[in-house]
Amino acid sequence: MQPVTELRRDLILVGGGHSHVLALRMLAMQPIAGLRITLVSPHSHTPYSGMLPGLVAGHYSFEQAHIDLARLCQWAGVRFIAAEVTAIDPLTRRLSLAGRPPLVYDVVSIDIGSQPELDAVPGAGEYATAVKPVAALWRRWQELHERIVASGAAADYRIAMVGGGAGSVELVLAMAHRLHDRPLAFDLWCGASRILQDYNARARRSVMEALQHHGINVHLNARVAAVEEAALVFCDGQRAGYDELFWCTGAAAPPWIAASGLATDANGFLAVRDTLQSLRDDRVFGAGDIATQINHPRPKAGVFAVRQGPVLAHNLRAMLLHRSLRRYRPQQRFLSLISLGDKQATANKGLLTATGAWVWRWKNRIDRKFMARFEQLPPGMPRAARRRLPSLDGASQQAACGGCGAKVGADALAGALAQLHRDFPQYCTGGGDDAVAVPAPVGVAVVQSLDLLRQLVSDPWQMGRIAANHALSDLYACGARPVSALAAITLPFAGSVLLQRELEQLLAGALHEFAEVNCRLNGGHSMQGPELNIGFVVNGVSMSPDGTLLGKRGAAPGDKLVLTKALGTGTLFAAHMQLAADGRDVSAAVASMLQGNRVAAQLALAHGASACTDITGFGLLGHLLEMLSGALGARLELVQLPLLRGAIEQVGAGIVSTMHAANVRSAEWSIQQPQSVDETRLQMLFDPQTSGGLLIALPAARAPALCDALHSEGCVDARIIGEVLALASGSTAPVQVG
Ligand SMILES: Cc1cc2nc3c(=O)[nH]c(=O)nc-3n(C[C@H](O)[C@H](O)[C@H](O)COP(=O)(O)OP(=O)(O)OC[C@H]3O[C@@H](n4cnc5c(N)ncnc54)[C@H](O)[C@@H]3O)c2cc1C
Repeated sequence: MQPVTELRRDLILVGGGHSHVLALRMLAMQPIAGLRITLVSPHSHTPYSGMLPGLVAGHYSFEQAHIDLARLCQWAGVRFIAAEVTAIDPLTRRLSLAGRPPLVYDVVSIDIGSQPELDAVPGAGEYATAVKPVAALWRRWQELHERIVASGAAADYRIAMVGGGAGSVELVLAMAHRLHDRPLAFDLWCGASRILQDYNARARRSVMEALQHHGINVHLNARVAAVEEAALVFCDGQRAGYDELFWCTGAAAPPWIAASGLATDANGFLAVRDTLQSLRDDRVFGAGDIATQINHPRPKAGVFAVRQGPVLAHNLRAMLLHRSLRRYRPQQRFLSLISLGDKQATANKGLLTATGAWVWRWKNRIDRKFMARFEQLPPGMPRAARRRLPSLDGASQQAACGGCGAKVGADALAGALAQLHRDFPQYCTGGGDDAVAVPAPVGVAVVQSLDLLRQLVSDPWQMGRIAANHALSDLYACGARPVSALAAITLPFAGSVLLQRELEQLLAGALHEFAEVNCRLNGGHSMQGPELNIGFVVNGVSMSPDGTLLGKRGAAPGDKLVLTKALGTGTLFAAHMQLAADGRDVSAAVASMLQGNRVAAQLALAHGASACTDITGFGLLGHLLEMLSGALGARLELVQLPLLRGAIEQVGAGIVSTMHAANVRSAEWSIQQPQSVDETRLQMLFDPQTSGGLLIALPAARAPALCDALHSEGCVDARIIGEVLALASGSTAPVQVG
């Protein structure tokens, strides 16, 4: 048996900012045995600030201007948690996350950027779109752009930008360039007596010329005191109208940094030493806009975040391996390249300046070179090199035991269960007898099912939710409501502290789902092994008062077939493993797997379903065949198949799940020789689904109402995808596709 290194410590990176993406890449190329790294950031994609104006101007696509964090983490072997951190408690080393359980760290690094100061001006938060978070700005800009391009805008439509620094100037120029053929008015409102305070006079002049050239009205000494609907109110009492308002003023830190008790500067930014460690807590690192280097304060600019990345990577490794940390001294003067909307740019460094198309091309080369590091990720480390990795203190290298020697230790298990019992008192026993009675009304049949999954997503809480939904789905397909569950979990080899953390996250995810449907987790079994596996035995009783259950058999000729969720998880996760999937598509697939089938099953029963099954590993066709008895066939309309974003492109590119070929082998025979069908869509019939939807047969007259009801209950992809047929005698292929 191969020796394995236990996981011993958690390094958590909060925020997918510029320093972190660089540090993450470097840490992945020089891994530490026994270290588990997690990145927490709200979205799968993070913007590269240098290209943001070019994105708005239309010079770059979304993909060119964003780093796909989900893909980067998949490559790096790092857990990616799409969430927002809302608090940090340095004493208990806990990070609070919005809408989900906290995470515990051994070492943490914070690189969450900054946001414009909106709170200081009444009404700004309500009426203005802040330039950060960029995801919200991008959404708003796209809506505005589409609206103006599609329906035009009144000649006096005013787009206002409040700012005066480089970001605001670049953005308003980019907007004006993008909409240059529309009769709009652009205003830049600047509270100071000049824009670009820290730039030299020649650079400022060049930028002012560009603003004039683009017809942007620059208003100086115009400090906004309040914002009202459609009006800015200035400190001198003057007012000015706007139709759309963007806000790009001085940077502010989220209040939870100061509320944590960690040392901050006067503006609430994390105060760090030259090693990028918090002044008072060696385990907390900070980089980018959110951190202020107390010995060397600098303006909040991406250039510093980028420069800090390699130092941060070095110091995180050094801290974990007890080596000496490096001190970082940021440069006094830095090159600033301001894009001027139309592929022109101005360079500013100290007293030097230059303007022109060549400066934009220079900037473009620098920005694209930076992004190429995340687009073309190097191949993984050879196995031999992995064996020589430095390891953390106490990370044992030993052939793992089998049998009960592989169980999760009693301390980790008891600790996790005690916490879960506190969080879900009604749904988690917290330990007890060796076996548990399954409660059911007298005379009522209990239906049982078991489903297990290999790790699919790196976020343990989401993995627990998906596994619970996947297992419960079998009950729903039978028209049963869950009563109780037992867990079967294999955790990757780890020390007891990390085992407890992982178990807590997994089961908290599962209990989140179980509590939602009033299902009690009665117990289970947990082991250690080379990789994560999680599954549940679930018990249920009929949803109907009369004890009716649904079955796979029972459909009649003429029944319509309704599919409640989109297909494509098999191909999308195969692509994700090959680093070929877009993180947004992966997020959409995860969201689909997190949607349970309870409501769909209730609606199926209420609408007189004659048969039902859930779509999982055998794909739509494999599971449909289970519904067709000897005399039944079916017709499927391929164009009606609901598909997850990006799925058809992956199949078209030849990326399918390893299970796909087996599904083709076992079900291909059933398809009547198709004439001129879309071959790629046909392949979607074989795509294995995790936590897939229900396939419901019901009388044709009731199918539209079922679809309407499903849509209004949030099953937005539900569709009628075909119908059940009487099979012609002698026919050996029961399924027609069209
Ligand atoms: C229009 C514009 C153009 C700019 N152009 C330049 C330029 O050309 N050069 C330059 O040097 N600077 C530029 N800047 C400034 C630059 O954007 C910032 O200085 C830079 O982005 C800071 O990088 P960062 O690593 O600190 O954080 P960011 O790049 O802001 O990244 C922060 C990340 O953390 C995530 N996050 C935020 N909150 C949380 C949370 N609570 N929990 C978890 N994750 C969180 C975010 O989603 C994001 O992924 C520009 C700014 C703007 C607005």
